[in-house]
This record gives sequence, structure tokens and C-alpha cells, in this order.
Amino acid sequence: MSLNTTPPWDDVQNYINGNWQTPSSDEGQSVVNPATGKEISYVGFSSTDDIDAAVQAGQKAFEDWSERPVEERIQPLFEFKQLLEEHHDELAEVLVQEHGKTFAEAKGELRRGIENVEVACGIPSMMQAGHLPNAAPDIDETAVRKPLGVFTAITAFNFPGMIPLWFLPYAVATGNAFILKPSEQDPVVAQRLFELIDEAGFPDGIVQLVNGSVDTVNTLLDHDGIQGASFVGSTPVAKTIYERAAANGKRVQAQGGAKNHIIVTETADLDFAARKTVSSACACGGERCLANDVVVVEESVYEEFVDRVVQEAEAQTVGYGLDDETDIGALITPEHESRVRDMIASGIDEGAELLLDGRDVEINGYEEGNFLGPTVFSDVDPEMTIASEEIFGPVIGLLPVTDIDEAIDVLNRSDFGNAASLFTGSGADARKVRHQADVGNLGVNAGTAAPMAFFHFGGRKDSFFGDLHAQGEDMIHFYTDKTVYIERWPDA
Ligand code: NAD
Repeated sequence: MSLNTTPPWDDVQNYINGNWQTPSSDEGQSVVNPATGKEISYVGFSSTDDIDAAVQAGQKAFEDWSERPVEERIQPLFEFKQLLEEHHDELAEVLVQEHGKTFAEAKGELRRGIENVEVACGIPSMMQAGHLPNAAPDIDETAVRKPLGVFTAITAFNFPGMIPLWFLPYAVATGNAFILKPSEQDPVVAQRLFELIDEAGFPDGIVQLVNGSVDTVNTLLDHDGIQGASFVGSTPVAKTIYERAAANGKRVQAQGGAKNHIIVTETADLDFAARKTVSSACACGGERCLANDVVVVEESVYEEFVDRVVQEAEAQTVGYGLDDETDIGALITPEHESRVRDMIASGIDEGAELLLDGRDVEINGYEEGNFLGPTVFSDVDPEMTIASEEIFGPVIGLLPVTDIDEAIDVLNRSDFGNAASLFTGSGADARKVRHQADVGNLGVNAGTAAPMAFFHFGGRKDSFFGDLHAQGEDMIHFYTDKTVYIERWPDA
């Protein structure tokens, strides 16, 4: 089998109870290649009946699946992992054409997704909850984890291949049924993932796909047959999802937007830090929840560091994601490009110094694409819009600080707490930042702080609503409930 990587593609389908179906409401939208502006597919939105059918199929399939030996439940995941490896390049090719990022970035995000499938295959060990003989006189106690039913995940456009896999493998390995609602902006790669799911041998109804937008999400959140929801997207929506799901008595974890800082101290390897700064802020066109775009630099090395960042940013090649030499691809939509342009204009209006202007970039052959080159501001103030709000574009803002304490203060004043990154040669500075930075992910001399699949992934403050994060062990807790058996078997 090979996946169809050449658009235009047929309309995106739902995958309900093991069957492909066209979403049945009257609404929908075009899927457009952000580099060419051409329509490459169309996604219809699901009706309430479509969602009902998926939930009912999930509930029915759960009855048998949750009782199957855990070893049996992970066999389709091994098969899925193998299929993901075999079709890695094809999935990446599809992803580039609907998202705009580069082929290497698309492969990288899929690799991160595959790693979650691998971790979930360890569920026989991860699901164990504990046993204590002689917990009381003649009494042994055993805790067990049990799956709960049907879960859903509602995901963002920026990592359409990886984010569904933060959830899906853990949900089904723990014995639940799972329904994905991918972003309507780039839903084709999710369909390709489900073409592989279809091959992998899951029972019908255990893994399902429903397409749609706001109404589809609300129907899922209001549905009595759904036990819990995971969400990844922007902060205002994350907050609404958290409130609505909780009001409906569901488990919920909602990952929101971000504004991430880099701290550079005078003892840092400045070349390395400048390279990592530019790649963190500009890779995937800056459309990453981990993009570090506010760069706080100790003043003794500020001028030197700013020069290195500008040089590094100037060396980036903007272009089509499938061209080998491209470092920075297209932004998702013209509307989003225009929002990033407005942010750049606000930086100028609010008094930051524009050192590199990416607004005039022209890509031959891709005149209709949503392209922006790397843009660098210096002398940014933490209160400016470009330093306090998420940009989601290749824009970097630098500011000097007197010392590490002021740097930490700038970082902690942010409304967001997704990630930060520190570059330093000082263990004492590193320790201080580890202890004081109010963020969920912290990189030390490592660039963008993206944890591996066996660690949880999630932020703080306005970047996250809930308690259990994505990936790894947190997902086992999210997808199961615990019971304790207190047993007394006196000697007859
Ligand atoms: P978005 O909030 O617009 O959409 C995310 C999902 O929510 C989509 O599936 C969409 O259909 C649905 N949705 C949109 N508006 C809705 C509404 N009013 N009610 C119900 N559902 C709605 O986000 P996006 O533009 O797709 O993604 C970018 C955002 O996601 C950025 O803010 C980024 O930082 C964030 N993000 C966060 C993380 C994280 O781990 N914290 C990871 C990736 C992306």
C-alpha cells in the first residue's frame, strides 16, 4: 500500500466504526496549500448524527476492548508503529503540502509522534498501580487502574501529525476508545494516519476520526457518552474548552498558547546560543508553541549577541517546504500572515528597533504563498505587544538586562508559562533559573525545550488548563481511574 501524496485529494473523510464516511453537515471549508494558495482538498464538518454514531460505536467497542488482555491491546500499536515507519516520508510530504513547514520539520514532528506510540507499547508495566501485602492485620491491598470509556482529543493546526499521537496511543493501550477531531486547517495528514490505523488491526470503533470545527467540538464536549477531552490550541479556546468540559463532568486537559523566553548570560557560548535562538523562533515559520521569541540577554554581551542573531537570521532561506534548501516555509493562511505583519507593525509603533525586516520576501514561483522572512527587533520592552503576546511567526525580539535576577523577573512576569531556554556557562545561574522560572519546560544549553515522549509535555499559567499533561505517564493517569481492593482471607 502507498499513501496518496499528490494533490488535489478527494474530500476528507470521517472514520467511524471502521468505515470511511463523508461528514454529513452542510458546512465545510477548503484545504489550501499555504505555499501555492491552491485548493488541495475539502473538509466537510460532522453533524450531531455523525458524532452520535462515533460515540455509540466507541461505547460498544469499549465493552470488549477494555476486557482484553493488555498484551493483546498493544499488538495493533506495534503494527501501527511499523506502518508509520514505512510511510514516514509519504506522511511528511502530505503534511508539508497542507501545513507549509519544511520536509525535515515534518519528518521531525512525525518522529516525535512515533515515539509516543513506542512509549504506549510499554503499557503493561505503566498501567500497574501497586500492591501491599499485610497492609493491615491479615489484609492485603491492591490498587488497579481501569479504563473509563470513550475519550476525545481536539487538536491544533501546527503539528497535525504529532499532536494526535500525544493522546491516541495511550488512550487505546489503556483500554479506552478514542475519537480524534483534528484541525480543519490541515486535516489530510490525520486522514492518512487513519488509513494506517485501518491497516493496523484495531477493532472497529476503538479509534475514530471526526472532522469539523466549533460546532463539532461543542457537540463532543456536551456528549454524555464521552468521558474526557484533551485539547491543544490557542489560550482563549483552551480556557473555554476546559470550562465547558468540566461543567459537563468530564476529565479535561487543555493546552493553550505561549510566549517563551530565552535567557543568554555572559558566560554562554554565544555562537551556539544565536544559532539555537534563530532556529527556535523561526523553525516551522515560528508556528510552534515552544518557539522562543523573546530573548533576554545580559548587557555585557548584548550588542555582540544581537549581531550574531541578525547574521544567523539573514542566512535563513525562505521558500517552499518541499525544496531541499528551504529553512523557513509558509505560514498557514493569508489571515495569519497578515496578523503577524500587524504584530511587526506594532513593534515598530511601540518603539522597538527593527534590525531585520522579513516583510518584503518574494519567493519565485510561489507568489500566492503566505511567506514572511525572519524579522529581528532589538531594544524590546517586556510590555510591548511583540514581547507579551504570542506571534506565531518568525519574529525575534531582544532586550538587555543587568543580571540573571532581572532576566528571571522578565520571564516570570509573562502571562504564559509554556517553556523557556537558558544559555549559560554558569552552574549557579542554571540552578537559579531551574528553581525560579515559572515554566513547564526548561531547556539549559539545549535550545527549544521539547521533552521526549516518556516525559510529560505541558505548560503553566495561561498555557495550560488542567493538571495532567500530554505524553508519557500523565496520560496513563488521565485515561484510567484507580480502584483499591482491600482483601482479607483468614486462614481457614
Ligand atoms: P485554535 O484554538 O484556533 O484551534 C484548535 C482546535 O480547536 C481546532 O481543532 C479547532 O477546530 C478548534 N476550535 C477553534 N476555535 C474553537 C472554538 N471557539 N470552540 C471550540 N473549538 C474551537 O488553535 P490553532 O490555531 O489550531 O493552533 C495554534 C495555537 O495552539 C497556538 O496558540 C499554539 O501556541 C497552541 N499550541 C499549544 C500547544 C501546547 O502544547 N501548549 C501545542 C501546539 C499548539
